[in-house]
Amino acid sequence: KTFSEIDLGDGLKQNIRRCNYIKPTPIQRHAIPIAVAGRDLMACAQTGSGKTAAFCFPIISGVLKDSLSVTRRVGGGSEVACPLALILAPTRELSCQIYEEAKKFAYMTRVQIAVAYGGTSIYHQLRRLERGVDILVATPGRLVDMIERAKVSLGMIKYLALDEADRMLDMGFEPQIRRIVEQMDMPPPGTRQTMLFSATFPDEIQRFASDFLLDYVFLAV
Ligand code: AMP
Repeated sequence: KTFSEIDLGDGLKQNIRRCNYIKPTPIQRHAIPIAVAGRDLMACAQTGSGKTAAFCFPIISGVLKDSLSVTRRVGGGSEVACPLALILAPTRELSCQIYEEAKKFAYMTRVQIAVAYGGTSIYHQLRRLERGVDILVATPGRLVDMIERAKVSLGMIKYLALDEADRMLDMGFEPQIRRIVEQMDMPPPGTRQTMLFSATFPDEIQRFASDFLLDYVFLAV
């Protein structure tokens, strides 16, 4: 299957071509159709495998199909950002890399993307969020800070991606990740779609999967 055979929407497909992505990598070939179909996913993926696109394409495609984002803007006027999708990554470098890629994939669409990471002033990141955001890319510590300041609400999250989940655990982010996920349980259960990417699968990752994912597909390519 090529990208054009997957139901991703025209705007996204144009951007995929513009980025010179012709042939899906193995992880993309398997993960994207499963994710577009709405299933939860746990995938074994190394750096360089093309995992960023594997979770970004279904999320961007889903947000574009989602009429919720329109309602949310019309009903806006509050200063609390209510993203529809959250991508969690362990470091500033990785979150910026995902953000830059995601912006290319969402180019000229109405999908708004923002990034939040620690080790720098929170002020500009908060100002950016006030302008509205559909997809937030964040490191766990900075996101918890924003939630505590009541600048971000996760009550509208429909898509959650955890990138390099094993590295986030190694860095001690498990309590923050659990706090973050607790904020977003939309009733009824199963409304949120979760994708977990990891290079290794220790017990803690298996526990994450059983706590955060529902009836998920496991992919090892
Ligand atoms: P990642 O594993 O997501 O960090 O991707 C590794 C590199 O491969 C990045 O520079 C991507 O832009 C590139 N890449 C990912 N998927 C494809 C594809 N299907 N065709 C061409 N380049 C790709």
